[in-house]
Amino acid sequence: MTGTAKTHAKGFKPEAKKHLGQHFLHDANVIAMIVHAVDPKPGDRLVEIGPGQGAITFPLLDRHGELTVIEFDRDLIFPLTETARAHGTLEVIHRDVLTVDFSALAHNGGPIRLVGNLPYNLSSPILFHALEHAAAIRDMHFMLQKEVVDRMAAAPGSKVYGRLSVMLQAYCQVIALFDVPPAAFRPPPKVDSAVVRMIPLAPDRIGIDDHALFARLVRDAFGQRRKTLRNALSLVCDGASIEAAGVRPDARAEQLEVAQFVRLANWLRAHDK
Ligand code: SAM
Repeated sequence: MTGTAKTHAKGFKPEAKKHLGQHFLHDANVIAMIVHAVDPKPGDRLVEIGPGQGAITFPLLDRHGELTVIEFDRDLIFPLTETARAHGTLEVIHRDVLTVDFSALAHNGGPIRLVGNLPYNLSSPILFHALEHAAAIRDMHFMLQKEVVDRMAAAPGSKVYGRLSVMLQAYCQVIALFDVPPAAFRPPPKVDSAVVRMIPLAPDRIGIDDHALFARLVRDAFGQRRKTLRNALSLVCDGASIEAAGVRPDARAEQLEVAQFVRLANWLRAHDK
């Protein structure tokens, strides 16, 4: 064991590392609200991304008795493991979360429930990584930048409805739960935060025939969001195809429901466009 690790065991709290997006929660009320939102039930397989110094980890362990955490910062592994002994059974995976196969974690004990106050610099990659493993995930409760949560949960017609809204809502039910001010963290981030719940849809409710084509269509449609679909999608299809799929070619992406994007992508796939 290194000297640093021994010091940690005596309660030394390492400095927050900016490059790892470390903003540690210290507001007991917010922590309690997160645990209440997750509401673990016996037999649930809980997995926390980025436990940090354990702000959510230990209350969850006290409530649930066992938990798996994925943490990239090696300086936090030893203090987490040591402190956890008094709270329950903690499995620590010392890895970059983007390299973790959530499906493999789900093998023992059914779909996992993901929890995390995420590093904001990695929010989108982590969300898309989770989507790739959606079948292995029962639900997710994440703290993110409020601006990102607003985009994730936005409805058509809203100024912030965009690619992230459509891509996430096509695969999950997205529910913004509550906002959290910067003062709830040490050090405080420069932006407001919010907690969001995502529940992956059952495969038969998703209904997308070609996931790559769907993703490309959504990307192109919002790539030039002021343009009509006919112009924005000119590299993917023509106006006649859009119309034949039952979508108005003179509409703009921000006006389309998620189901209309799905219908258009499926029509193009079925007609080999
Ligand atoms: N959960 C703690 C809390 O609420 O106080 C810490 C949250 S902090 C915003 C984000 C955590 O994610 C940090 O502990 C950081 O080290 C960890 N982290 C950053 N990048 C990571 C990665 N690629 N994989 C796993 N954990 C990562």
